[in-house]
Amino acid sequence: MSEESTLLDDNAVYRTLLESTKAIPWKIDWATMKFAYIGPQIEALLGWSAESWVSVEDWAMRMHPEDREYVVNFCVAQSQAGVDHEADYRALTKDNGYVWIRDVVHVMRNDSGEVEALIGFMFDITERKKTEEKLLSLQKELEVLSFKDGLTNIANRRRFDSSFELEWERARSEGKPLSILLLDVDFFKQYNDLYGHTQGDKCLVDIAQTLSLALDGPRDLVARFGGEEFVVLLPEADAAVARKVAERCQRLLQKKSIVHALSPHGRRVTVSIGAGTAVPDGPADRAGFIKAVDQQLYAAKNNGRDRVEHVQLDA
Ligand code: GH3
Ligand code: MG
Ligand code: MG
Repeated sequence: MSEESTLLDDNAVYRTLLESTKAIPWKIDWATMKFAYIGPQIEALLGWSAESWVSVEDWAMRMHPEDREYVVNFCVAQSQAGVDHEADYRALTKDNGYVWIRDVVHVMRNDSGEVEALIGFMFDITERKKTEEKLLSLQKELEVLSFKDGLTNIANRRRFDSSFELEWERARSEGKPLSILLLDVDFFKQYNDLYGHTQGDKCLVDIAQTLSLALDGPRDLVARFGGEEFVVLLPEADAAVARKVAERCQRLLQKKSIVHALSPHGRRVTVSIGAGTAVPDGPADRAGFIKAVDQQLYAAKNNGRDRVEHVQLDA
């Protein structure tokens, strides 16, 4: 067999392979921004014939308007930088429906390193997306019903509110003190900006776990108060105990040593803490107590962060 006919045979094999897979292959010529090839399977998936995919405009226009700007900008930037990438988007079908696509893109360069073409595969991920969406909505439903914070796995705000109400009444009837700590992560916006939101989430999980170690009373509770704020409920704790627990929170976090390059406090993640102690036998209500503790947190921020401010309330 001559070399040429082997090559032809190979081409036929490759073509058959490419055109019989479920993934849809394509190639775009970088200089003209036109499709050099797209697998005929595209017609079965979206209804648009292979011939109708002429330029990247066709690709962009057949995308859900909500996905278009982000996906096009992302793909163009990655391609210009010569970086392989992938993007999920909803592709318009000929009968005005949408199909979720994952486009996996490889950037081809010539010998001198210039981008020559983009080649890739489109995968139909509609079923996967449906499952993901279903899972996400179930998780949200569950969170509403449960007492656990979905991200950090510690108690959520609902759990805190309910325990706080019970403990407040108990402290009142037993004539005992009760303390709470409100903790807010310092410079967390910068943390997210520098390390990304996913790393920010992980940081919150680490903080939650660390704070859990600071408690020792059987009815003590740490909860996510919201966003990057936590609350510690300390039944029967007087001012001295509240201060001790607050300092333990800070010490444990210091030991955990989560790097935060933009923080002036030792380049580590720190928290500011508002602490309050009350013996609820007067007219003051729970909401007023929380408000007073929140003011202490505000003061801790104003006084330089990474510190504790405490208030004793005759409630
Ligand atoms: P300060 O020291 O004054 O508290 O500054 P800060 O940047 O921490 O405060 P600010 O309240 O301005 O920002 C809080 C940031 O926390 C903004 C928000 O994006 C982020 N954040 C809130 N909840 C979450 C979350 O669940 N995950 C992540 N990654 N970030 C969150
Ligand atoms: Mg905050
Ligand atoms: Mg903060």
